[in-house]
Amino acid sequence: MSWKQTPKVELHLHLEGAAPPSFIRGLASEKGMDLSAIFKEDGGYAYRDFDHFLSVYEAACSVLTGPEEFQRLTQAVLEELADHGVVYAETFVSPDFCGGGDLEAWKDYLAAMQEAHVDGITLKGVITCIRHFGPEKAKAAAVCAAETYGDFVRGFGIAGAELMGKPSDFMWSFDCAREAGLHLTAHAGEWGDAASVRDCWETLGIERIGHGVRAAEDPKLVEDLAEAGVTLECCPGSNVFLGVYPTLSKHPIQKLREAGVMVTVSTDDPPFFDTTMTKEYEDLERTFGWGEEDFAEINATALSAAFCDDETRAEVAKRLEKK
Ligand SMILES: [Zn+2]
Repeated sequence: MSWKQTPKVELHLHLEGAAPPSFIRGLASEKGMDLSAIFKEDGGYAYRDFDHFLSVYEAACSVLTGPEEFQRLTQAVLEELADHGVVYAETFVSPDFCGGGDLEAWKDYLAAMQEAHVDGITLKGVITCIRHFGPEKAKAAAVCAAETYGDFVRGFGIAGAELMGKPSDFMWSFDCAREAGLHLTAHAGEWGDAASVRDCWETLGIERIGHGVRAAEDPKLVEDLAEAGVTLECCPGSNVFLGVYPTLSKHPIQKLREAGVMVTVSTDDPPFFDTTMTKEYEDLERTFGWGEEDFAEINATALSAAFCDDETRAEVAKRLEKK
């Protein structure tokens, strides 16, 4: 069956990484920038390998130069998500890419993003520092997050090159965000091993883990994550596309779920990884035989781990009931 209309909750989505290629192409031509080299003939993003992907990603982001572009980006992303039945999403945004960590500039970007609107879908922000930019920049990002915590800004996290630096380097930022009332998540266990997942979890005191799937390599950690009710923001299509696992059948999402770990499904950087929420559901159905009840459970887990307020949660729960 097609899962396109099935209401969905998505927790792990990078705003710039969700930019539809047609949107970036249009913006580039408005600005007179030639980005033709980063597109395939069918209109998607073109790249050969992971390093090339990073440079294509950077080139795509080069057209996003100010708050207005981020407002239009957010609008385009919301329309795309709604088209795939997403009724609630959280997106990662970084002050480093929105005003360079300057609080006043950041506020302008945030206000612009919040002007985007599509009926029937709610978007909340998880503010990320960038691991490979180092702890000092992370502090500025945390201050931006703490100062703007509210209806839209709900969480704080860390993205970027997972294998650089140590979680303890970022404790100040996570403490700052926690004290301001923000919920916490962190990318771990995509490129790093199970020990790095535990380190990140225990050091930073996070409630959710971005990816976290390599935890499956340590049975004790799997047991501890299940017992603590930590939610994993799994992005199976992204993991397979980037070669973390050779095929979806080798992906541990099913094994983790059977072990009682809270797993959810997201797309990460969908057009770059040739995926959508609909495609994720189709692939999970084909590979693990997941059906309506399984997806309902996955969405309920995602909603209970969402960083929104309870009023929003109740509203989204009603949307999930609609078929
Ligand atoms: Zn990610």
